[in-house]
Amino acid sequence: MTTILITGTNRGIGLEMAKQALAKGWTVYGSARGEVTDADAHICEHPKFHDLRFDVTDHAAVRAAAEAIDAPIDILINNAGIIGPERQSTLDMDFDGFAQTLAVNTLAPLAVSQAFLPQLKKSTNPRIVTVSSQMGRMSYAKSDRIAYRASKAAVNKVMQGLATDLAPMGIAVALVHPGWVRTDMGGAGADIDATESASGILALAEGLTLEGTGRFYNWDGSPSEW
Ligand code: NDP
Repeated sequence: MTTILITGTNRGIGLEMAKQALAKGWTVYGSARGEVTDADAHICEHPKFHDLRFDVTDHAAVRAAAEAIDAPIDILINNAGIIGPERQSTLDMDFDGFAQTLAVNTLAPLAVSQAFLPQLKKSTNPRIVTVSSQMGRMSYAKSDRIAYRASKAAVNKVMQGLATDLAPMGIAVALVHPGWVRTDMGGAGADIDATESASGILALAEGLTLEGTGRFYNWDGSPSEW
C-alpha cells in the first residue's frame, strides 16, 4: 500500500490531497506548522495519518522530522507555498518578502526532497511531485506578482535538475500546475475546487514513471508549457 508525504496539509489543496489519500487507504505523512486547527483535526485523528509539524523553511526541523521516520515513502508532494508580499512589482519590491517567497516556494521543496531521500530510496517506486504554477511560465511576459512568478519559475528549474540527478537512483520527479483553485490562495472566484485539483495531482503522482520524469504537467495530466 502506498505511503505519501504531503507538505501543507492543514488547508487548501494539501488538506484535500491528504483526505483523498486516506480515503484510498494510503498511509499519509502530513506536514503543517502551528497548532492543529478545526479544518485538519479530523485527518489528524485518522489512524493512518502521521502528523508532522514543521515550517518548511526550517531545514533543521525538516531534517529532524525525516530522521525520526524509518519507513519507506513512495510519494513526496511538495505542496506548501505562499503568494508572497503585498509589494512585489519590479518597480516596488518588498525584498524581505521576496526572499521569504523564494525560501518557501523554491528552496524548501529541494530541502524537503533532500531530507526525505533516505525514505524515498527505501520505496520500490519512489516519486516526487512539486506543486508549481503556470504563473512561473517563461512564455508569459506578465509582471504582476513577480516574486511569486520568479519563485515558481525557479522551482521548475531546480526540480528539472533534481529529476536528472535522481533518475539513476530510480526516483521520478515532476512538476504540476494545480489549476486555478478555490482556496485561500486562489480565491472564491477561481476555476476549480480543491477536490478536483487534488484528485488530479494524486492521479498524476500515482501514474508517474521514470519515462515522465523531469516534466511539467497540468493537474489533469496534460503537459504544461514551461
Ligand atoms: P493555501 O494558501 O490554501 O495553503 C497553503 C499551504 O501551504 C498551507 O497549508 C500553509 O500552511 C502552507 N505553508 C505556507 N508556508 C509554509 C511554511 N513556511 N511552512 C509550512 N507550510 C507552509 O494554498 P493552496 O492550497 O491554494 O496552494 C497549494 C500550492 O498550490 C502552493 O504551492 C501554491 O503556490 C500552488 N498553486 C495554487 C494555485 C491556486 O489557484 N490555489 C494556483 C497555482 C499554484 P499555514 O496554514 O501554516 O500557512
